[in-house]
Amino acid sequence: MGNIDQKVKSLYIHIPFCKKKCYYCDFPSFCGKDHLTEEYIKVLKKEIDSRASEFNIATIFIGGGTPTFLNSKELYSLGEAIGKLNLINDYEFTVECNPGTLNREKLMALKDIGVNRLSFGLQSTHDYHLKSIGRIHSYQEFVENYHLAREIGFDNINVDLIFGLPKETMEEWEEDLNRICTLEPEHISCYSLIIEDDTPFKKLQDKGLLKLPSEELERDMYRRALEILENNGYTQYEISNFSKPHRECKHNIVYWELKDYIACGTGAHSYVDGLRTKNAATIEEYISLMKNEGHAYVEEHKNSRKDDIEEYIFMGMRMTEGISMKAFEERFNIPFRDLYNNVLLKYQQEKLINVHDDRLYFTKKGVEFSNLVLSDFLLDE
Ligand code: SF4
Repeated sequence: MGNIDQKVKSLYIHIPFCKKKCYYCDFPSFCGKDHLTEEYIKVLKKEIDSRASEFNIATIFIGGGTPTFLNSKELYSLGEAIGKLNLINDYEFTVECNPGTLNREKLMALKDIGVNRLSFGLQSTHDYHLKSIGRIHSYQEFVENYHLAREIGFDNINVDLIFGLPKETMEEWEEDLNRICTLEPEHISCYSLIIEDDTPFKKLQDKGLLKLPSEELERDMYRRALEILENNGYTQYEISNFSKPHRECKHNIVYWELKDYIACGTGAHSYVDGLRTKNAATIEEYISLMKNEGHAYVEEHKNSRKDDIEEYIFMGMRMTEGISMKAFEERFNIPFRDLYNNVLLKYQQEKLINVHDDRLYFTKKGVEFSNLVLSDFLLDE
C-alpha cells in the first residue's frame, strides 16, 4: 500500500451524457455525443486513479448527466477503476439513474461494481408534466425500474421530485408526494423548479409563455411537502432532503459540512485542503487535456480563511441541525461568538435562528428568510 495518506475523502464522478436535454437543465450534460463514451471512460478512469487512489474513500457519487446512459460494459469498465480504490468499510456508493435509460442488465452491473445506493431522477408522477419539462420517461417506466431495483437487492433508494412546474396544481403535487411515499423509498429530495439562464425554459419565460405557479403557491407546496413527508416517517435534514432514520445521504453531507471531495470528469468541481479546482467544461476539452496534460483543471482557487468560514456557515445552515459552534472553533481556532455574537442575538430575538446547546439552526420561519439572514454572516475583508 506504500505511503497512503490516511485522510478520508469523498469522490464525485461526472458522466456528462444525456439522451435528450431537459428544458430546465443547465448542468454540464450533452446529447448527441454517444461516439465519445468509450474514450471518455478511458480517460476518466485515469483521472480517478491518479487523483483518488492515494486516499481512503468514504463516499462515491456518480452523477450527471445520466450515468445510466452508459451501457453495462462501460459501467463495468468504470467499476474497474473504482474497484482499485481504498474504500472504507461502510462506504456509501450512489449512482444517479434516469428512468428511460435503465434495464436489468445495467442494474445488475451497478450491483456488481459495489453500488449500494440509487438516486432516481423522477421529478413528477404525471406524464403530461414529465413531457412538458422535456423528460424522456413516463411515470410507469419509473415504477417498473424502481421495483426491478428492489428485486435486484437495492435497499437504499432516493427519489428526486420537482415542484412548481408549469401549470402544476397543489393537488398534483400532493399526488406526487403520496404516490412516492406509498413506494417507501429510503430518501426523497424535493426541489423547486428554478429557471436558469440559457435554458429553453428561460427563453419561454422571457417571451411570457411559461405559466409558473405563483410564489405563494410554490411556498405552500414546499410547506405541504414538509407535512406529507413528516406524516409518512421522513425526517427533513436539509432544505430539500428528507430521509427515513439513518438513511441521510452521507455524500451530500460532506458538501454541507465543507469536507474534502475529489471530483472527476467534465466540469467537475473539487475541494481538497482548501483548494477549489474546476475541470474543463466540454467533453472534447476534458479528453484532450487528460491526454495531453494528464489532468483536466482549467481553474484553481485557494480559499482564504474568510472564504472557508463563510462557506462553512452557508453550507452548514442548509441542514436542519445547523452547525456546531464547538466544531467551528476546532476548525477555525476562534470562538463562533467572537465573530458573530451580535448577528446571533439579533436573529435569535427575531426567532429566525435557534440556539440549542452548542448548535445553531434556522427556525421554520428562518428557513424562508435564510438568504437575508445569511448575508449578515458575511465577514468584512
Ligand atoms: S437528465 Fe438530468 S442532466 Fe440530463 S438533461 Fe435532464 S436534467 Fe439535465
